[in-house]
Amino acid sequence: MKLHYLGTAAAERVPGIFCNCRVCNIARETGGRELRTQTQTLVDDGDLLIDFPGDSYLHLREYQLNFNDIEHLLITHWHSDHLYAEDLAFRMEAYGNNLEKKLTVYGSKVVHEFFNRAFELEGMTDPARIEFKELLPFEKYTIGQYTVHTLPAVHGRKEGDCLIYLIERDGKRLFYTHDTGFPTDEVLDYLEENHLTLDAISLDCTGQGLDYVGGIHMNVGENLRLIEELKKRALCEEKTINIVSHFSHNGGLTYKEMKELADKHELITAYDGMVIDI
Ligand SMILES: [Zn+2]
Ligand SMILES: [Zn+2]
Ligand SMILES: [Zn+2]
Repeated sequence: MKLHYLGTAAAERVPGIFCNCRVCNIARETGGRELRTQTQTLVDDGDLLIDFPGDSYLHLREYQLNFNDIEHLLITHWHSDHLYAEDLAFRMEAYGNNLEKKLTVYGSKVVHEFFNRAFELEGMTDPARIEFKELLPFEKYTIGQYTVHTLPAVHGRKEGDCLIYLIERDGKRLFYTHDTGFPTDEVLDYLEENHLTLDAISLDCTGQGLDYVGGIHMNVGENLRLIEELKKRALCEEKTINIVSHFSHNGGLTYKEMKELADKHELITAYDGMVIDI
């Protein structure tokens, strides 16, 4: 499974759209990997796309993507750095021409409501061009070439409106945790009961080195605690690749500083454009 991290920031990006903090100013001066856009991940060159933030168009330009080639879009939750459905409405007939494939979008009931709102604003729907499939928590679905397990996130309204995913293909398993606080025992029990040993984890590290990030995201300390918990349950092994992403400038660290901290703990620090095979 090939992961292409198109964007690796929390909602306001780095530099933050209206921020003059130290991290944001260093990002402005330095550029390169210090710059981060909203979180979106392309899997296996487009067999699956995870999330569709407002920055999707920037990603299309930066990485020469053609979103018309993508048939499966998995949405984690309804925050605007993960779903900007107004752009999806531009698949309608008045805006998008010569589309050969249908796009299917997957997400929770609340994500479906946000999706519908965008199409209601346009006054158009066309299931031959784009349709939505609702996902329930603690279920297993076939999505294109993938088996996807749906797990409730400790995020948003904390009532199954935000999902994190266990994604499997050809014997490889990815635990994708953007966005969530420390997962619940129910989630960890589900992974253990289904013997879902992991090849890679993409860890929510919004809070970087902070002591506390409000319970709906994680920091490096919680990431390490989660890895230990997964090891105890025989879900995580020495070979498991641990990637940290979804960074906020409010976490207080630049890319360079974050990488130094992560390297000490054998965590891979994601950056915009990073490609990794698991
Ligand atoms: Zn987010
Ligand atoms: Zn800032
Ligand atoms: Zn969020």
